Amino acid sequence: MLIDWSSYTINKIGGDLFYEFLIEKKYFSQPSVHGYTSSVYRLIARFITNDEPEFYIVELLPRVDSENINLFYTSVEDFSGMAYIYNSKGQKVSIESYENGVLQTKRLDGSVRDLITRIPQKCDVLEGLEPTSNCGGGGGCTTSSVVVQRWTYWYDVEVDTQTGAIVSARYSHRQYRGSYVKQVTTCSGSAGSQGNAIDKTIIPVSSDGEVLNLITEFLIIKDASFKNSKADCVYEILKESNGDLFKSTIGKFIDDPKYALTFKIGNCVSSDDACTDGSKIGTTGELSIIIENTNANSINTAAMILHEGIHAELFRFVDQAHNGDVDPNDRPRLFELYNYYQRDLRTMDSNAQHVYMVENYVVPIAKAMRELDNNKYSLDYYMGFGWDGLRAYDYFGKLSSTDSDRFYQLQNTVVRNTSFKNCD
Ligand SMILES: [Zn+2]
Repeated sequence: MLIDWSSYTINKIGGDLFYEFLIEKKYFSQPSVHGYTSSVYRLIARFITNDEPEFYIVELLPRVDSENINLFYTSVEDFSGMAYIYNSKGQKVSIESYENGVLQTKRLDGSVRDLITRIPQKCDVLEGLEPTSNCGGGGGCTTSSVVVQRWTYWYDVEVDTQTGAIVSARYSHRQYRGSYVKQVTTCSGSAGSQGNAIDKTIIPVSSDGEVLNLITEFLIIKDASFKNSKADCVYEILKESNGDLFKSTIGKFIDDPKYALTFKIGNCVSSDDACTDGSKIGTTGELSIIIENTNANSINTAAMILHEGIHAELFRFVDQAHNGDVDPNDRPRLFELYNYYQRDLRTMDSNAQHVYMVENYVVPIAKAMRELDNNKYSLDYYMGFGWDGLRAYDYFGKLSSTDSDRFYQLQNTVVRNTSFKNCD
């Protein structure tokens, strides 16, 4: 990093004097973060009266759809994105999110003093960042006004002219559609005063600029890598049979214009089988189910798709709750787990969703697998599919080792004898 000592701004905030220097980043690599453009670094010197300056490095991470050019931490103006603050020892002391220059949420290391005292707008922790203080609220229920910004998110879409199927969709830009005020009642101490929320509509545009109808298939997108793969074949069968679990998970994306679920073949960080990437859901409404293990047989692939479909649906529910579109109290346990394990929605910390799945989805997965196998055996034979990917999260000991062994054996019997081999 090169600090440009000749280029700085001075701001006096809350009695302290701040010098903000530009940092050129010539000599280090820049990892990209989904949904954000590359980082900008600033060196901040804070002079507290009659004191030596304290130095901080601020990393500003503008959201991909924010259009600000001059980025300063001491005067954020219309900045939308994240700010990470490091002390002189290189420790991250604060994580902050901004929407049009307004601090939304903040997580601060309790042992340090705020670099600049800004009061977060949001008191909820759903977005992952915990407010420190003064974010409003108190006990009981309060009603407050929330300004909802309406944005239309435009996508460039490539269409197969023969079949009309969508080959790819890429985020293009977003368009501000004004705002409206809505009354929100929040209970049990998490109420905010004035707040902001975002109302998203996603519009696909073909590569020649034509606006496409929101045909029902659009919101489930098949990446080129996925089309005609074994997983695609299995997906089509799951869709065709439209069982209860499929209907209540992946099926929910089919007619929800606010979200786009993409299937692809690719690499997962935390698994060799399959994973769900929900890191962009809060910004663009996009989610991906990634299948890594392309060698699994049809029946195991079906179990993987159903498992990932539950992840996708949980990401969607939490995002909807965050936007005020559904009531988080419909699934209080999920939010309790999020609160405990996973403050940041943009990460895929596996614990909250997986523990919730252990508690709610093992039997539904087993039932769905039994249906696919034409109800050949009793439910216990399919319980192993339900537990696949969840055994490591059975923190409360629901699965005894005796049952675990038995379910593995029964599952092997199913795999050996199943007639669900349509895609092998
Ligand atoms: Zn999982």
